[in-house]
Amino acid sequence: MQTLGKGPSFGFGDRTGLATPGHVAAMQRAGDGILPLFAQQSIREMSRTGRTPPQVMAEAVAGMEAAGWSGPCGADADHLKTAADIASCAVAGFRTYTLDPSDRLDDSALDADADTLRAKVEALGDSVSWLGHTIGRRVELDNGTAFELDEIACHRVAARYGRALELVFDLADAVQAAHAELGTDYDIELSVDESDAPTSLAEHWILAELCTQSGMPLGSVAPRFPGAFEKGIDHQGDAAELRQSLEDHAAISRALGGYKLSLHSGSDKLSVYAPLARATRGACHVKTAGTSWLEGLRAVARVDVKLFRRVIAFSRGRYASERKTYALSAELGHVPAPDLVDDARELENLYLGDWDRVPEGRGFTDPGRQIVHCTYGAVWNDPDLGPAVRGALTANADLHHTLLADHFERHLRALRAGLD
Ligand SMILES: [Zn+2]
Repeated sequence: MQTLGKGPSFGFGDRTGLATPGHVAAMQRAGDGILPLFAQQSIREMSRTGRTPPQVMAEAVAGMEAAGWSGPCGADADHLKTAADIASCAVAGFRTYTLDPSDRLDDSALDADADTLRAKVEALGDSVSWLGHTIGRRVELDNGTAFELDEIACHRVAARYGRALELVFDLADAVQAAHAELGTDYDIELSVDESDAPTSLAEHWILAELCTQSGMPLGSVAPRFPGAFEKGIDHQGDAAELRQSLEDHAAISRALGGYKLSLHSGSDKLSVYAPLARATRGACHVKTAGTSWLEGLRAVARVDVKLFRRVIAFSRGRYASERKTYALSAELGHVPAPDLVDDARELENLYLGDWDRVPEGRGFTDPGRQIVHCTYGAVWNDPDLGPAVRGALTANADLHHTLLADHFERHLRALRAGLD
């Protein structure tokens, strides 16, 4: 396992531990020049599937070996929120640590007035001493965008991220300590994507500058880009606004040392890949995870449609509770219940989408995907459905891996379209 490096890279999160050979096959078909991360899992995913960091790593490595991958690859301990999880990830062989301080954000700072912000900043004390040498600067980027770090902009960042930054530095110290013991190198991804508000340029600049000045090996930053980045479907929003945002954030990363821009919730966001790759001149990372689960369900749909119907019915029953921690807009009423659809392929298309109906360079938009997307943990842990799905995937591994290879070949081609 290696660190993220400087070139384009792609994360294949595998929640079942059965998908890596399909990910490898996609890389072999269309991954030229792209560094893959086959081991990539967040603590949230592991707790939902009952897996551990060593297990995630072992299953990814076994899948790589089975499929004949001998090239370089990375490994991402994704969305870490507490220091307690770090040591076990380091020992398991992870090399990239995605630090997520979103629980410590003070979003009331987003629209607070100057006096309120000043009071919040005072309460943070010495931890925001950086304000002294930041307020009053003007940043001019190489793409022509410029912005002022005036008092109110800086106070807003300090108030919103003050406690979050303390956590980032604590987590980075824990990673550093774990790797000092192992004698291996690593890099850090700062992820601030799990927020409703797009990351401002002042936020990105100040956070990334503080991280690099602290000496941490910052490999990538994941801002929250404008528009909707919902699970299981392509980006929705103003493409021109998104492109400008990608170019501005990429210019900040070039000005601060050239770390990568990372696209989270990257599953199925095919329309974003080429603009991301172009804006960053290839210094970009894409993370996917949930879309592999959906291709697993497609394999189930092809070999055991009765089981697929049960998974859909179960997922519809759990959707209201399972959707809470995800960005999703699908409603049950958008898609007919499975007993109302006789034709097996039509049912598959409704809940998983049909590539034949999607233009090249675009991703799925079918709302049914979201309903079966967010319930993966509930299905996997269900005493009947979990073993049945696992059994179907294991017994039909070739089909499962071929579907994954076809699916990710499209993802990788969309990314490479921006690299030429
Ligand atoms: Zn994320």
